[in-house]
Amino acid sequence: MSGIDNLPPLRDVIAAHDLAPKKSLGQNFLLDLNLTAKIARLAGDLTGCDVLEVGPGPGGLTRGLLAEGARRVLAVEKDPRCMPALAGIAAAYPDRLQTVNGDALEVNPLEYLTPPIKIAANLPYNVGTELLVRWLTPPEWPPFWESLTLMFQREVALRIVAAPGSKAYGRLALLAQWRTDPRIVMELPPEAFTPPPKVNSAVVHLTALPAPRYPADPAILNKVVAAAFNQRRKMLRSALKSVSPAIEDHLVAAGIKPTERAEQVHLEAFCALARSLAQAT
Ligand code: SAM
Repeated sequence: MSGIDNLPPLRDVIAAHDLAPKKSLGQNFLLDLNLTAKIARLAGDLTGCDVLEVGPGPGGLTRGLLAEGARRVLAVEKDPRCMPALAGIAAAYPDRLQTVNGDALEVNPLEYLTPPIKIAANLPYNVGTELLVRWLTPPEWPPFWESLTLMFQREVALRIVAAPGSKAYGRLALLAQWRTDPRIVMELPPEAFTPPPKVNSAVVHLTALPAPRYPADPAILNKVVAAAFNQRRKMLRSALKSVSPAIEDHLVAAGIKPTERAEQVHLEAFCALARSLAQAT
């Protein structure tokens, strides 16, 4: 029996179901249930909320989310070997855990969950950034989720919370900071995982803002930011030449020096630039 529920310790679950971790699926498991319960608490109050979990593996975080009172958890796992272990958890929490054996990039959580919805995951590193970008760029804002509590490689976590002027500042920071409040809430060394990855990890908590921090058309903002950071060492007047022939005027209208580089420009100024370009079209 473990400390947080009446289910067996995760090492026994892994041995019973022969879940030798697979590198190709980014399997670095968290086996300390006190730690997974702590991560579940970082997701905030889960009572009355449905939770989407991507990549539950043997179910350490899943158990934390259920023990912390999530109304329902949808756990989407690509590895079929994990399904019997997850079925054991579903039996211990009747009607509260739904499992889907599939690729999280192809599953629509709204077919299973009802708002309010939070997302919590120790993400597979190979698809983590792609999932985050999708969750940050839904067709409408506010999105279907209230908050994201996600484990990343520390280097990716730093890119999400980066400030202007730093090397880590770029598209991911602007995308995240435009419509959410991202914070690093926990750092974990490699030894916290089985097997230990080569890098440090961090949990990022992102709360969806009710509306974007500054007004801007999402498609124009995305185009400007992508072009600016694709050539991050160039002055903006050359990096953004393809965006508009009158780019210097738009930069000046947004209060940005045309000779500046993308890395120095604040989110607010990028949004002003997107608005100036929108007016011209
Ligand atoms: N949540 C577990 C934990 O904390 O111990 C496992 C985390 S492990 C880093 C990532 C998990 O995501 C693995 O179980 C892996 O099989 C699964 N996975 C990898 N790619 C996936 C995908 N595209 N969709 C759903 N699950 C995926």
